[in-house]
Amino acid sequence: MQELLHDEPPRIADAAAPAGDAVSVLRRVFGYDAFRGQQQAIVEHVAGGHDALVLMPTGGGKSLCYQIPSLLRAGTGLVVSPLIALMQDQVEALRQLGVRAAYLNSTLDATEARQVERDLLDGGLDLLYVAPERLLTPRFLDLIERSPIALFAIDEAHCVSQWGHDFRPEYRELTILHERWPQVPRIALTATADPPTRREIAERLALEDAQCFLSSFDRPNIRYLVAHKDNPRRQLVDFLASHAGESGIVYCLSRRKVEETAEFLAGRGIAALPYHAGLPAAVRAENQRRFLREDGIVMCATIAFGMGIDKPDVRFVAHMDLPKSIEGYYQETGRAGRDGEPAEAWMGYGLGDVVLLRQMIEQGEAGEERKALERRKLDQLLGYCESAMCRRQALLAAFGETYVPAAGHEGPGVCGNCDNCLQPVRTWDATEAARKALSCVYRTGQRFGAAHLIDVLRGADTEKVRQFRHQEISTYGIGADLDANAWRSVFRQLVVAGLLEVDAEGHGSLRLGPAARPVLRGEQEVHLREEPARKSGRGGGSGGGERRSESTLHVDAGDRPLFDALRAWRGQMAREQNVPAYVIFHDRTLRDIAQLRPASISELARVGGIGGGKLGRYGEAVLEIVREQG
Ligand code: ADP
Ligand code: ZN
Repeated sequence: MQELLHDEPPRIADAAAPAGDAVSVLRRVFGYDAFRGQQQAIVEHVAGGHDALVLMPTGGGKSLCYQIPSLLRAGTGLVVSPLIALMQDQVEALRQLGVRAAYLNSTLDATEARQVERDLLDGGLDLLYVAPERLLTPRFLDLIERSPIALFAIDEAHCVSQWGHDFRPEYRELTILHERWPQVPRIALTATADPPTRREIAERLALEDAQCFLSSFDRPNIRYLVAHKDNPRRQLVDFLASHAGESGIVYCLSRRKVEETAEFLAGRGIAALPYHAGLPAAVRAENQRRFLREDGIVMCATIAFGMGIDKPDVRFVAHMDLPKSIEGYYQETGRAGRDGEPAEAWMGYGLGDVVLLRQMIEQGEAGEERKALERRKLDQLLGYCESAMCRRQALLAAFGETYVPAAGHEGPGVCGNCDNCLQPVRTWDATEAARKALSCVYRTGQRFGAAHLIDVLRGADTEKVRQFRHQEISTYGIGADLDANAWRSVFRQLVVAGLLEVDAEGHGSLRLGPAARPVLRGEQEVHLREEPARKSGRGGGSGGGERRSESTLHVDAGDRPLFDALRAWRGQMAREQNVPAYVIFHDRTLRDIAQLRPASISELARVGGIGGGKLGRYGEAVLEIVREQG
């Protein structure tokens, strides 16, 4: 099945780029031993002068696919990238490697921009990052005309798609590159997984004839967890407790909730910052900068935050509200664990989310066709939430991919790294409870929300019950055997299964769905998912130091002092140069150094992630620290 994911075997690259060259650049410049997945095939294809469309999940290693061909071919590789904030860090990371890289965008003043233009004309750049609007100016097109160009790379290529959530009109005009410079190879890259968007990219960028390199979208290092919300803030705090000191993103649906959540977390001593489109630009930029540069910031954000955040060591992504679709969810969770180290994606959801999202769809401006599409997407996501099957299998199936566990896989369940695999779901016979719930909906006139219906079922004495005289109806108090939480779970699952429907007006009132009848008549049984037992309070945990989760990079206790010393040194380097710490070295590289304790430059060169540029720059300093720590 796996073969189906990949297109036909890559054509052997032209003589212009013998295979050995790509590998030696990978080792010499980037300090990596081997290519991953399809990287080598892509690099050779593009270096050989051919067009490529690359679909690879976040963290798959897309950047190398255009960076190495740019180094192999004569001239400058031009990289179209939609986000200015990002270019800077990417260019900085390349410079650290000794690559001649620059960017051209509105943050440069005229003198700086002129210098970059001169470097381009002189062939003094290996890579140049440009914003699409800048690239399309007559001035810049003229520059391209007069400069040696190695290739055009179009990053975040899904921005060309109107269906996608990141549509950028300027991307549509990028076909001009192909029209004017047909001899220059183009490589378009995206991590967007759904087939309609992929087709649109190929069409809109005139890449129908390009070879398509489709990778598996599995992110084996991400652990997927889905929980029903009962006390979301406490659940979030519990989740964050296992990620103390780590960077992560907490997504919320509304701006207000973003701010409230950030404030709440900050009040508990967690380094949390807000980010949403309603904040002043300067605040947004500063918060983003801190997230990228400092260790351990928790960013509370709407989905306005994230595209192109390529910080590799985001250790978790939490969803406090339901995302709008599986694609959105996958893209958002995909921002965790780009470095391949363990990471967690946690999502809480409840009936309230379903009501709110339905309401947003129905009351939105979109046409009927689009609304129908949005409804289907929401239903698909709800199905995912309630599913008892392996999350990974379910997610990949949504993208048309069949998940095949890796050879030698021994974990529990299918993937061994999602909540359903780690703790298999139990179901219970809820036929009786479902009938009680459905008849309560019916007897109260199909116009109340779950909270009131639960009060009626449990025989509560509330003002609303008395107001509507619901203490007199036959379903009053017939559900006292289940607690409110269990009833919430029942109602939520009945909605997802179509036995109940949420009103389109958005008041959250429930009415019988088409599937309710056979159940009410006693013709059909209902089996529901049992809520996993709630974890008991972790009262004692707060006093002792940081509690590290399994998702944290593993460092042997004996290596810890050296690892910490290296981290401290890295932090200082990063501050001095005003770059993010990971641009200097990744955590994993530091851990490997601490383990290996190299005594010479040649030994240090064996550690993954240290190429010639970094060896020259930092080699001696690192060896010094290793010596000091003895
Ligand atoms: P993407 O753009 O696909 O999300 P990146 O290009 O940012 O992914 O790469 C993700 C991480 O993987 C980066 O930290 C990168 O340095 C690392 N990486 C990429 N290719 C390799 C490789 N062949 N060997 C080791 N690490 C790699
Ligand atoms: Zn699983």
